[in-house]
Amino acid sequence: MTEFELIYRYFKAQQARAVDTGSAKIVKDLGDDAAVIAMTAPTQWVTCVDTLIQGRHFSEDWQQVSDLAFAIGYKAVVVNVSDVLAMGAKPHSILLALALPERLANETWLAEFAKGLFHACAQYGVRLIGGDTTRNDKLVISITANGVLATATQPVYRNGAKVGDKVYASGTLGDASYALYYPNTEVGKHLGHRLHMPTPRSILAQKLASSGLVTAMMDVSDGLVQDLGHICQQSNVAIQLELDKLPTSEPLQQVNLAQRLRCQLTGGDDYELVFTLPAEVELSQQLLTSVVTEVTCIGEVIAADDLMIEGTMPKSKSSSATAIKLLYQGEVVTEQTPYPFNEFPDLRGFQHFTE
Ligand code: ADP
Ligand code: MG
Repeated sequence: MTEFELIYRYFKAQQARAVDTGSAKIVKDLGDDAAVIAMTAPTQWVTCVDTLIQGRHFSEDWQQVSDLAFAIGYKAVVVNVSDVLAMGAKPHSILLALALPERLANETWLAEFAKGLFHACAQYGVRLIGGDTTRNDKLVISITANGVLATATQPVYRNGAKVGDKVYASGTLGDASYALYYPNTEVGKHLGHRLHMPTPRSILAQKLASSGLVTAMMDVSDGLVQDLGHICQQSNVAIQLELDKLPTSEPLQQVNLAQRLRCQLTGGDDYELVFTLPAEVELSQQLLTSVVTEVTCIGEVIAADDLMIEGTMPKSKSSSATAIKLLYQGEVVTEQTPYPFNEFPDLRGFQHFTE
């Protein structure tokens, strides 16, 4: 199979036809030197890229890479779509750069991978408009995702959280990381789909953005504390997080409390949304019409200096970006009083580079 046959067979021919891309029409998709998009209205274009590497973002093991072909294709798309959604945009299109090992360049693997990829595309209304295919000894998948902001909708950044705002999370937290660390337990098996087939919250993200009420929003991909730390740093605030309120799936409720909280605070791969809203804004039916995703208030934005004075965070166990105060049953969790933990947990989430 030549490179062009491969591209045609797996990525061009299988494209779902009916995807409404609204005000940014796709004039030319894959097949030429580059794709062409026609912008008809004043449109804000949102774009991002993420790379998944064998042995780093998914298993090194060839058997697993084979077994998970569908999920790998699906997840490569949705982790990028998740970033577009977290800006408040409507996902539009993706470009796929695929570094493909010889042993995966076969009908079985490619067909499953493409099936997973297009399943995600259909679910989130995006089209594959181009890409690049190369050979490599390991599988590397890099996807660029694009989105458009609805007219009159402004992007939602990480820098708008204000003291007094309430902090919310969608869905449930910690499931994916539990499945990653304890894959052979009963609960871990139950939660496997949360790790392999995450579901970014499309309708919720777009509703929140178009309401214009949300002050900051992001997706949780590297661990709740670390990610909320980005909102704190960019908004120049701190966040008080109530551990008793963290939304917990039924399977995860069966797990030892400290172990479960560690997954919820530092585990990655949730792809849930966290966002802040002024305290006076009710999360009303109207704001959440046709949103089926559960939304839970998990804490409050506080002044950054409040946290410094109290000094609840052991320096050694938090990254400098982290400004999160933990409360459990109304009591502050500190190094001296770490309950419900035996000792204060390491709150750093996933990091590629450490000092
Ligand atoms: P060029 O040499 O101009 O970079 P390529 O041979 O790399 O062109 O690609 C030919 C066409 O196929 C381009 O339109 C490109 O976007 C598309 N393409 C290549 N690989 C992929 C892929 N993995 N997924 C989607 N489109 C692809
Ligand atoms: Mg190329």
